[in-house]
Order: sequence, then structure tokens, then C-alpha cells
Amino acid sequence: MKYKRILLKLSGEALQGNNKSVNIDPAVLEQYSEEIKTLKATGVEIAIVIGGGNIFRGGQAETLGIDRVQGDYMGMLATVINAMALQSALERHGMYTRLMAGIKMEQVCEPFIRRRAIRHLEKGRIVIFGAGIGNPYFTTDSTASLRAVEIQADVVLKGTRVDGVYNKDPEKFKDAVRYEKLSFQEAYEKGLNIMDMTAFTLCMENKLPIIVFDMNKKGNLLKVVQGEEAGTLIS
Ligand code: UDP
Repeated sequence: MKYKRILLKLSGEALQGNNKSVNIDPAVLEQYSEEIKTLKATGVEIAIVIGGGNIFRGGQAETLGIDRVQGDYMGMLATVINAMALQSALERHGMYTRLMAGIKMEQVCEPFIRRRAIRHLEKGRIVIFGAGIGNPYFTTDSTASLRAVEIQADVVLKGTRVDGVYNKDPEKFKDAVRYEKLSFQEAYEKGLNIMDMTAFTLCMENKLPIIVFDMNKKGNLLKVVQGEEAGTLIS
């Protein structure tokens, strides 16, 4: 295995699958669980950050007459709902998990304590980080970068529905070209939208590689961790 400890970032929106009328599609949970289980069987240590965009985003708040900071907390709580769904799915597939949150909610999860998170990983538990960093004005991408640095992960894997980073939106332009590899500097200069700036800078400053890959393609997660070409590597 090329990477021994990974941080997997999943978007909340991806949980909806193709059915935008539901927040969480059981088929997506099923598919993610299978992928993660296959990877776990190799002994790789897995931490996961999941977003909340399928339920609520802080950016929506103001249009609803809700204060921005309040909206961000609502978004953070949304990530906990997704994290709990994912936790349950992983456990149903026989994996051991712990949910740690950036906001205290003792009845449902542990608070985030760095040393404890590392211990869980060493014991083979999959650690899911919910509630983001616990602060407004951040995103779950920033959470992924920060937690990855804190737990000394070898890589951040950004699971998306496209198979990497393109020079322009591949869902809009047929002639879009995919990059196999990029340096942080190149990605920055080309203004490529990989993660938000806070998240991107944190990875760059800590020399933490990011791989953007298609999480919906069977076997891809394992491939990426084995170091096979299956997405875009930014390092
Ligand atoms: N959020 C926040 N602080 C954090 C993480 C998340 O305020 O540390 C809020 C923010 O409002 C964000 C929402 O939670 O819009 C949901 O997360 P995100 O949009 O990153 O989810 P994704 O796009 O990955 O589904």
C-alpha cells in the first residue's frame, strides 16, 4: 500500500445519489460501505470527513432570513446526521467505527480529541469526523485538511463524481482535459477549483498530498490508495 493512513473526504451531496428528492440514498451508503470495507481489509487506517450539503449549507442561510453563523452551525449539525448514517452503514458491514465531533454532543458521539482519534485508528477503528471543525465560516474541506494534518494522515482523498481535476468543467465542456498530476503551485496558478482556499493552503503548507478521484467507480478507492493512477494527484 502506498498510503498507510488516509483521510477520505466525502461530500454530503453525493449521498443523494441520482435521486435529488431524498437526502440519503441507501444505495450510495451501500456502495460506499463496500468500497471502504475492501480498503479496510488491507489494514489501511481510515478516517472520514463527510459534508452536509445534501441537508443544509451555511451559504443558504441568509436567503432564508437566517443569520449566517446560525446557518453554519445548522450545516455542521447536518454533517452529523450524514456521519451517523454512514457510521451505521459501516457497522452493518462489520466494521468498527467511532464518530468524533467538533461540537460536543455526548449522547451521539465522542468529542474530537486528537490523541484519542489516533488511538482509534491504531486499533483498526474507522474514525468519522462530524460537525466539521466546530467553527462557523469553515467548510468540511477545511475540516478534512485540518484533521488530516492533525492525525498525520499520508494523504487526503477527495471522493467526487468526476475522475479528477480538469482544465475546465467536464460536465459542461466535452473537450475538457484531465490532469494526472499537478503541483500545488500549478493548481494554484491555474486557479483550479480543488478545495476551498483555506483547505488547499493547509495541505500545501503541510506538504500533504490530495487525490481527487471518482468515488462512484467500483474499486477506485482501493486503487488510489495502492498508488495506481485513478484520479488527479496534487502534491
Ligand atoms: N460548516 C462550518 N464549519 C465547519 C464545517 C462545516 O460552518 O467546520 C458548515 C458550513 O455552513 C457548510 C456546511 O457546514 O456549508 C456543510 O458542509 P459543506 O458545505 O462543506 O458540505 P459538502 O459541500 O461537503 O456537502
